[in-house]
Amino acid sequence: MGDDETLSIILSSVDAFMKRRLPPEEIRRRDENHLPPYDLVPELAEMGLLRAPIAEAHGGLGLPWTSMCRIQERNASHAFFVCSIINRFICFGALPIIAFGSQTQKQEILPRVLAGRTLVALALTEPGAGSDARAVAMRARKVDGGWRLTGRKTWISDADHAELLLTLCRTPAPDGGDQPSYTAFLAPRRAEGVAMTPLAKVGNHCMPSFDIGYDDVFVPGELVLGPVGQGFQTIAGTLKYSRAGVASGVIGTAQAAFDLARAHAIGRVQFGQPVAAFQAIRHRLVDMHVEIVKARLMVRELARLIDAGEAAEEMSSMTKAVATDMLQFVTHHGMQIMASAGYAAESPMQRYWRDARLYTFGEGSNEIQKDIIARSLGLPTQGRARRDMA
Ligand SMILES: Cc1cc2nc3c(=O)[nH]c(=O)nc-3n(C[C@H](O)[C@H](O)[C@H](O)COP(=O)(O)OP(=O)(O)OC[C@H]3O[C@@H](n4cnc5c(N)ncnc54)[C@H](O)[C@@H]3O)c2cc1C
Repeated sequence: MGDDETLSIILSSVDAFMKRRLPPEEIRRRDENHLPPYDLVPELAEMGLLRAPIAEAHGGLGLPWTSMCRIQERNASHAFFVCSIINRFICFGALPIIAFGSQTQKQEILPRVLAGRTLVALALTEPGAGSDARAVAMRARKVDGGWRLTGRKTWISDADHAELLLTLCRTPAPDGGDQPSYTAFLAPRRAEGVAMTPLAKVGNHCMPSFDIGYDDVFVPGELVLGPVGQGFQTIAGTLKYSRAGVASGVIGTAQAAFDLARAHAIGRVQFGQPVAAFQAIRHRLVDMHVEIVKARLMVRELARLIDAGEAAEEMSSMTKAVATDMLQFVTHHGMQIMASAGYAAESPMQRYWRDARLYTFGEGSNEIQKDIIARSLGLPTQGRARRDMA
């Protein structure tokens, strides 16, 4: 079967799955009750969604990212939280293990990730290390048989449910020097000394966030991911994939918000005519549509570069920033066009609008993306602006 045929089967199965398991009233129920989609993961795995872009040699379907981005757009056009949990399995679980994992990690952990049995949460952010990831203060010290981790991570999505926490720590420089050095660990969530505190927030209620305390947590040596001292490279290696996934997801959400606003503007009559007949509203809808198309074209180009094996650092930053700004624009105007009807709790518009606010600073803020783009343009940078992840 060709890639196009496989893609069209997967897209139809996504639509059927959403109709059956996540109709609009169920999405609202989950959002209002803060219910994550963990119960749906076995079905997502069965549909092949957790391994779609993974090479066949590693147990995946080997679909190109041009297809994966369309799948993620379709998922998020129904429910962004489905796109988000899939992204986590693929980008924080499968891909880092494929790129940097040991043979044992590939044999023992990877199949569980692809089957949806092992969720990996990315634990990078700390109270003092947001955009400035190199300010990570959490430390790991070498002990007999492994490492002991002490510190705190914050705003870690899905951490409580994860089996492994991909945790970046400061470690002594391998050459004994005083340059800061970082290592990535697959810390077991259930290890003694790990404490979770849930964080309350404005939106994205189906993706719970946690503050994590690590109190002298033992991590066996075989759960170090990638070379000791190269934790940044290990985590940064998969950013283009997660940014492509997030950008595709925000396009799906933007399209859903646009479709809702358009239908409302055509059906809502004021002053004896549909509000869509007023040029101010009509042009606003056109601008929203154009912005969505622009962002979608950028995601396609990013996916094409990824499939061609390019580093795509500049393109992934540009696409992430453009797509997430676009979603702000579309949900802001979608809310304006629907007015009270969009602000009502039963309208998905208020959820799109609330949830959208995260993406311009989550997954690496758009200011930091612009610094990455500036760097690739050879522009001088000021101070220590250097985070290029999460
Ligand atoms: C719901 C949610 C889920 C998250 N999930 C995860 C997760 O799973 N794993 C994880 O590790 N983290 C996660 N995060 C953390 C997220 O990645 C950070 O919020 C993000 O990196 C920004 O860091 P900060 O919030 O500390 O903002 P800060 O770094 O304090 O930045 C504040 C503002 O200053 C700007 N700024 C900072 N430095 C510069 C600069 N050099 N130049 C210009 N502007 C600058 C920023 O762009 C921002 O606008 C999550 C956060 C949220 C809210």
